[in-house]
Amino acid sequence: MLPAKAYAAPAANVPLAPFDFERREVGPHDVLIDIQFCGVCHSDLHQIRDEWGAGIFPMVPGHEIVGRITKVGDHVKNFKVGDIAGVGCMVDSCRTCPSCLDGLEQYCETTGIVGTYGGTEKETGRPTYGGYSNQIVVDEKYTLKVSEKLDLARVAPLLCAGITTYSPLRQWKVGPGHRVGVMGLGGLGHMAVKLAAAMGAEVTVLSTSPNKEADAKELGAHKFVVTRDKEQLKSVRNYFDFIINTVSAPLDLAAYLNLLRRDGTMILLGVPPEAPQVHAFNLIARRRRIAGSLIGGIAETQEMLDFCAEHNIVSDIEIIDIKDINESYERMLKGDVKYRFVIDLATLNN
Ligand code: NAP
Ligand code: ZN
Ligand code: ZN
Repeated sequence: MLPAKAYAAPAANVPLAPFDFERREVGPHDVLIDIQFCGVCHSDLHQIRDEWGAGIFPMVPGHEIVGRITKVGDHVKNFKVGDIAGVGCMVDSCRTCPSCLDGLEQYCETTGIVGTYGGTEKETGRPTYGGYSNQIVVDEKYTLKVSEKLDLARVAPLLCAGITTYSPLRQWKVGPGHRVGVMGLGGLGHMAVKLAAAMGAEVTVLSTSPNKEADAKELGAHKFVVTRDKEQLKSVRNYFDFIINTVSAPLDLAAYLNLLRRDGTMILLGVPPEAPQVHAFNLIARRRRIAGSLIGGIAETQEMLDFCAEHNIVSDIEIIDIKDINESYERMLKGDVKYRFVIDLATLNN
């Protein structure tokens, strides 16, 4: 076993603290990654508070991982020592069901995915531990190639925030001529703005924070609507072809469904702890739809990383010391993050 260092939540709702544990040995198909940066996703916060249930503690969060490969197993084909690699939200799945065979591992129909943290490692039967750590061992099949050309700290959030917004934009073939609303300008939201704008859509940010307007425009948004202002909200009624909903807190969906034009679709990405309430009239009146989307498959994640490298798209970040993680969660809850915290794992040694 390989000794590893991390920060973990010892139990639900208990602050993260230093945690020593062991990673599995590097198997024939595995790579060992020396983690340099890990993004802080709102899903980490939901899970250390056990808002989705079934959390395994101690929990080492982190599924926006970038680092350098320091060892490869004997049968590894696509990576070598020294390569830069990324790991997102999953480290395994059944590999044989129709969804896995279609490259849609995130929708694995038999075992479900093995989460990068909070899952059960197939090789050992022990919990998986995420990227708030100095190193990780992952099967090469679930490892992504990352271009050294980009700023690696700013690439890390692409592994979740990037792919989670890229995948639905591609699935619904968003492009020129489409009006896209992005609800919530946080980690996912700011990536949705950059990606939808790069794909040629007209992008409007739907935000509760008036002070984010200048940033939204700089990120590529064409319009900005303060959703707490009734008049502004009215100005975009029946307007959007798509709304990408990244809001992490419970909210009244009806007011936002009315912003969709006929045949418009709201795609739910945010996972508030409580279920949303919807009246049938909000949907049947204009044949509107509500859909959902979960991260993205491995091949699509690689496609997204290549798209971002080509279009020079990275995340807007604030780098943090791992000791400041608990305070960063408090700031994230207040919407005080521009637009993703990224942990510099070198600070684990301080
Ligand atoms: P985040 O950075 O905290 O951003 C969430 C944004 O939602 C905030 O910046 C804020 O934007 C808005 N918001 C927060 N509270 C609100 C409220 N009470 N009413 C209205 N708007 C509010 O979070 P994130 O990392 O982007 O994650 C967003 C959600 O997506 C989380 O629930 C996360 O678990 C989920 N997620 C889902 C997937 C998936 O596969 N579907 C993947 C990753 C994450 P404004 O200030 O602009 O209003
Ligand atoms: Zn995430
Ligand atoms: Zn499967």
